[in-house]
Amino acid sequence: MSRPRPRLATVWLDGCSGCHMSFLDMDERLLEIGQRADLVYSPLVDRKDYPEDVDVCLVEGAVSSEEDLDKIRTIRARTRILVSFGDCAVTSNVPGMRNPIGAAPLLERAYLENATLNPQVPSEVVPRLLPAALPVHRVVEVDVFLPGCPPSADLIYHTLEELLEGRVPDTARGARFGA
Ligand code: SF4
Repeated sequence: MSRPRPRLATVWLDGCSGCHMSFLDMDERLLEIGQRADLVYSPLVDRKDYPEDVDVCLVEGAVSSEEDLDKIRTIRARTRILVSFGDCAVTSNVPGMRNPIGAAPLLERAYLENATLNPQVPSEVVPRLLPAALPVHRVVEVDVFLPGCPPSADLIYHTLEELLEGRVPDTARGARFGA
């Protein structure tokens, strides 16, 4: 009996989507990945809830809000290999630049001082910020770190190729792949 195809997911937390753009830069290699794995959840597919039994998940972005926190805990519980995908996930990078300022002064600057119409800090719809934007591994266990801002398409491909074959990728060789 043939082995079931691995179930692949990608997630976008507090990032600029540049890591997902780099994912798309794999170009024709996306077709090869699509033949070797099922993309079961991603900003690139229309599915609302994170499914059970995901084999590999690439997580872009820092954990910055209560919504991110809930999401990443669910993702971790339902994923075998969790990949910190890009520098915002690995170090908090750009989202982490707000950490020395603090959440409250940041919100006041954005929604009160800079607003010309109806200044107020939103209490609904916009997820509540955590006191700091955190790297993913500060919140849940991470299995593989994929650095770069963004990681190059070659490095993403190498990482997926290895993981889908059941091997541990050597992402420390990022420089070789232009990360
Ligand atoms: Fe954007 Fe760079 Fe962060 Fe990726 S690592 S989400 S490209 S800022």
